[in-house]
Amino acid sequence: MSLEQDKNHTIHIYGPVPSRRLGFSLGVDIIPFKTCSLDCIYCQLGPTSRKTIRRKEYFSSARILSQIKKKISSGQRIDYITFSGSGEPTLNTAIGKLIREIKKITSIPVAVLTNSTLISQKSVRKALMAADLVVPSLDAATQEAFAQVNRPHSSLNIDKIIKGLQMFRQEFKGSIWLEIMLVKGVNDSPSHIRKLKDAVASIKPDKIQLNTVIRPPAEKFARPLILRELEKLKKLFGENCEIIAEFDKKAQIPASENLERAIFSLIQRRPVTLSDISASLGKHKNEIIKYLNFLLEEDKIKLVIHKGLKYYEPR
Ligand code: SF4
Repeated sequence: MSLEQDKNHTIHIYGPVPSRRLGFSLGVDIIPFKTCSLDCIYCQLGPTSRKTIRRKEYFSSARILSQIKKKISSGQRIDYITFSGSGEPTLNTAIGKLIREIKKITSIPVAVLTNSTLISQKSVRKALMAADLVVPSLDAATQEAFAQVNRPHSSLNIDKIIKGLQMFRQEFKGSIWLEIMLVKGVNDSPSHIRKLKDAVASIKPDKIQLNTVIRPPAEKFARPLILRELEKLKKLFGENCEIIAEFDKKAQIPASENLERAIFSLIQRRPVTLSDISASLGKHKNEIIKYLNFLLEEDKIKLVIHKGLKYYEPR
């Protein structure tokens, strides 16, 4: 088996981290940082270093499962086991097997956050069947908007993705919460919103979740909509639509004050990158990002770009 970067110390899980949508969510990351079929202008993980649609088993499934088992047996509160992380989880061919194995060992519901790009493939839809909840993204209804917001792999076509989502809806018995990330002046024009609304209506998700650029994005020009604009759109999308953008900073309570303190004290010593902090503390990047966002929102730290790298410094 050609597994890459599968060293014993690869951390595949993070959290449980508190999330407004999923409660205490144990993150499962089965993709190398940052391998994705998209390079979204709003991505909080930064630019995509490997843009691909090639599916393969990136890591040892046994190792991923053993980390999940260990965490579950620690007795911490976990409301969801959530596949998300350093890129697009469905790029890993083992995702179906992993979901089924998790279902054998626990009754904790399994969620998958996906960018929807591979859902037109039968094997991908089949792999997701055992999940309880799938949260696919759809930010564009035209190829032009898709190119602007998501900067996809050259082979991807938005009409095919929308068709894939329609097929998935017919086949999948669990819940589908469709997330739409709106970027000011990019995919929020009235004519594009009308097309998005038609696409969403054809997919029939259980919920429509509107989001905007609240976290530091990959590109500075990716700007958020204001709450009033989102509220107008929420009415337009109808009853099962909700706003998930966390404008209310008090909603984000850190799960571990110790970890927050450890991150802050590292930053106080010298400017550090996300990778520096993750390596120093032995914690997954996605977990660290949550705390960095919290510290940024509290104005305790600031983000400085130096030679193309993002550094965190005290205020
Ligand atoms: S799909 Fe997700 S991980 Fe990939 S570039 Fe977009 S926001 Fe980032």
